[in-house]
Amino acid sequence: MCVVEGSNLQQGMNFRRNPPYSIILMSVRPGAPYSDRIEEDGQILIYEGHDVPKRKGVIDPKLLDQPMHNPSGTLTQNGRFFEAANAYKSGYQAPEKVKVYEKIRNGIWVYNGVFELVDAWLEQSTNRQVFKFKLHLIPDIELDSPTTTELDHTRMIPSEVKLEVWKRDKGRCVACGSETNLHFDHIIPFSKGGTSLKSDNIQLLCAAHNLAKRDKIE
Ligand SMILES: [Zn+2]
Repeated sequence: MCVVEGSNLQQGMNFRRNPPYSIILMSVRPGAPYSDRIEEDGQILIYEGHDVPKRKGVIDPKLLDQPMHNPSGTLTQNGRFFEAANAYKSGYQAPEKVKVYEKIRNGIWVYNGVFELVDAWLEQSTNRQVFKFKLHLIPDIELDSPTTTELDHTRMIPSEVKLEVWKRDKGRCVACGSETNLHFDHIIPFSKGGTSLKSDNIQLLCAAHNLAKRDKIE
């Protein structure tokens, strides 16, 4: 489920940038600009909205409420995601599908899967209001397993585990040394009781070796 790819997206929140998907970039690294967090054992992402952009007259965006609207009156990215979440909660539309990429270190972005945007709210943070968005991981049916009971075991691999694996395997497929199209592979699959929480059970494989291994298991 975790394809490593470079991301050339310039901004963290991209509402329907690539329909029918929206895209967000997250990070839970120390010192990350926003406090994104993962809950419920890797199934839920709580994503923080974004600040007023730095521009003339804005001294410190971290002191200002996160904006719903641009000065021109149009919705900001916060506003667009917020409205989509509310439309879903009111029953007007299906949940917005959001692809999530995570920065695990400089220059390394990891694909965390497709999520559904199920809730949004405003929250008081120290001295201002910030947006919070709740996203639920959609199980990767193809990659994990064909039965619904087993889908319940789909989880994100925690960031620190991904980083540990990346360092240990030196950013290469453990089978052939390829540095492109890498996947975080469960050595023992979820469906066979393997864990996502320990680096011992995760390795880097290129797409070709990932596919080859899957065929062998099935
Ligand atoms: Zn390989």
